[in-house]
Amino acid sequence: MAEKRKAAAQEAPSIERTLVIVKPDGVERHLVGEVIRRMENTGLKIEAMKMVTASRELMDRHYAGGLEWCKGVGEKTKKNYAQYGLDIVKELGTDDDTKIGKMVKEWLIDYISAGPSVAMILSGNHAVDNVRRVCGPTLPLVAPPGSIRGDFALDSADYANRDKRAVKNIVHASGNLEEAKAEIALWFPEFRQ
Ligand code: GDP
Ligand code: MG
Repeated sequence: MAEKRKAAAQEAPSIERTLVIVKPDGVERHLVGEVIRRMENTGLKIEAMKMVTASRELMDRHYAGGLEWCKGVGEKTKKNYAQYGLDIVKELGTDDDTKIGKMVKEWLIDYISAGPSVAMILSGNHAVDNVRRVCGPTLPLVAPPGSIRGDFALDSADYANRDKRAVKNIVHASGNLEEAKAEIALWFPEFRQ
């Protein structure tokens, strides 16, 4: 079976694997079944699944982009503060992109290590993009109805930033194929890719 799948993946370059995580807010709100159902409805296949409380170390490696990553996140966060008329220096004590990014990373680590998550590997045609489509955009405020984030969450960047926490958006999904490979190796070291 595994051999057959491997051969199929070699023949069809669009057959991918990706990682989906029902984050602690999704688990707490009893949305695990709902997320699984929506993923399976697309025709994607669940290859592995487990419930796990992520350690801070695991999350540190998950968001492993380093200083460049922090700088990018910091820039994005600064734009969000400006958009909502929030004074970033007053709120966070700095306007340095990298320092802000490091703070946001801590919020993300706090969020996902706060309780049990359900992680799964999904495979199928354009699995990465198809999963992102089903999840909807990062910010629930702008996620359309019909997507997981649009149907089950309403959080926004200004609200979350004011409370110095990550935006609660039910699910994580790998952003691209490279991220998917690294995240699968991290969350499922026992899985042979
Ligand atoms: P994703 O790939 O769609 O999850 O989005 P990102 O990789 O850009 O961000 C990772 C996570 O950080 C998101 O899922 C949110 O939980 C959180 N997040 C993203 N943008 C913001 C923001 O502007 N403010 C806060 N507080 N959290 C954010
Ligand atoms: Mg991401």
